Amino acid sequence: MGAKTAKKLEGVAASEGVAVGPAFFYDPARLEPERSGISGDEVEAEIERFEKAVEAVAGQLSKIAKKLEEEGAGEEAEIFEAHIELARDLELSESVEERIRDLQSPEAAVLAAGEEFAGMFAAMEDEYMAARADDVRDVTGQIAAELMGRKAGGLETLERPAVILARNLAPSETARLPKGIVLGLVTAEGSRTSHVAIMARSMGIPAVVGVGGALEGVRDASIVAVDGTEGYAMADPDEETTADFEIKERQMAAEREALEEFRHTEARTLDGQRIEVSANLGSHHEAGDALSWGAEGVGLFRTEFLFMEREELPSEDEQYEAYAAVARAFGEKPVIIRTLDVGGDKDLPGIDQPEEENPFLGWRGIRMCLDTPELFKPQLRAILRAATEGNLKVMFPMVADVEEIRAAKAVLKECRKELEDEGTEFGEVEIGVMIETPAAAVCAPELAKAVSFFSVGTNDLVQYTLAADRGNERLRRLQRPDHPAVMELIRCACEAAEEAGIWVGVCGEAAADEALIPRFVELGITELSMSPPSIPKAKKVISEISGTPAT
Ligand code: PEP
Ligand code: MG
Repeated sequence: MGAKTAKKLEGVAASEGVAVGPAFFYDPARLEPERSGISGDEVEAEIERFEKAVEAVAGQLSKIAKKLEEEGAGEEAEIFEAHIELARDLELSESVEERIRDLQSPEAAVLAAGEEFAGMFAAMEDEYMAARADDVRDVTGQIAAELMGRKAGGLETLERPAVILARNLAPSETARLPKGIVLGLVTAEGSRTSHVAIMARSMGIPAVVGVGGALEGVRDASIVAVDGTEGYAMADPDEETTADFEIKERQMAAEREALEEFRHTEARTLDGQRIEVSANLGSHHEAGDALSWGAEGVGLFRTEFLFMEREELPSEDEQYEAYAAVARAFGEKPVIIRTLDVGGDKDLPGIDQPEEENPFLGWRGIRMCLDTPELFKPQLRAILRAATEGNLKVMFPMVADVEEIRAAKAVLKECRKELEDEGTEFGEVEIGVMIETPAAAVCAPELAKAVSFFSVGTNDLVQYTLAADRGNERLRRLQRPDHPAVMELIRCACEAAEEAGIWVGVCGEAAADEALIPRFVELGITELSMSPPSIPKAKKVISEISGTPAT
């Protein structure tokens, strides 16, 4: 038998690290309903069976969520909590019941309704919302499997270490992966924000996603090498490639080991300049994990996730609980709560959003909040109330001019007055603004007089400066925070901040970019906020910076 030829699969670097191992092509047979129809006198009993199946699945999911929560994996636990809500979704169950009344079997009804709902999500332009189509299929598949008395999934039976190749992996499948056995993941679908990517990152499994149709061409691969740092995989690598991967693997393990000493140190450059390394959070459940990675604060709490994965808007009290929980966890360390940055491209349940021609240039962030006080005020009130519990700051997104800051500050003042009149306890918060539109960078001298800090949102600043949609794969060449135009805008913002005596941080993805950290420090940036696992490495990079930063 001749040696197989090596094939390269290019994709998105979803989770750092390298691995080489036997390939396991995961190809679950499509779940087909056992019966398509029922008779009229079975309708009520089948609806009841469907309802029981929903509760059984919700029960299984809540056990997984509880286990993950106990293990400190809050972000993953939230995914399963969202799945429980999906399983119990009223619209979904109404659609299934209608189909059962039309004499479809419950398993056929739930699979068909799942497809219809998944199709609606998949058609959404926003990458995050489109990725929710997989969640719907995952949950409805589990309900159908329950109705037919079968087990969903099957990966839990994997017994030997392997690199898993799959079209996609549902969150429930990823969470059921046996620990220590999965060496790496390669999926045809997915992006950096799909759940498989989020979970692989937090599980520390090297992963490449979005390799597309090329995956089909390596179905019979025996060995696969994955480079989740560079974003490619090699099917049936030759000896030389395997040896290279083994070297990379050893280097990375040694690097991880060496980074341990930086985890809980204060980051300082060689000449003693203190740079705060903070965490970006999407949920209050992530606070403990972020602290264990050595977070010195929260540079960005993206509050929109609190609003998005649910049916109704969270109440002021619910928001208060979430913000207060992070404030308490971080104690004296600063926690920056960013006000709702949703709109245009992201539908918010409970809010009537218009269809827009150019959603990224539309009614989003601060623009939407200022027009919707019924949304904005409860959030600001909750932040002010939670400020008694720790060191909270508030930050406004998508700001284009100082008028917006003045208007937002006026609403904040109104909220303070209301709380005072009611006799409700609240604390003071510093106010900051994100520099993520070119307009904000250009108007930075004026903005700097109105706020206490800037935080550069490189993800949006890049897309707006270079007129290159941040989700468009074809524009990778332009999606570069080190583009001279972007760096010049950051420089302008830093100069204006220095003049006004306020500090500047970076909370976009570029904050963890090893090559850019020294340049940011040189520009006078004193805080970098990133996904928690990147913190130790960033602290190390900072500790190696020499030269006196601009003052
Ligand atoms: C950014 O734009 O860089 C940012 C941090 O905000 P988000 O990624 O949430 O838009
Ligand atoms: Mg942004």
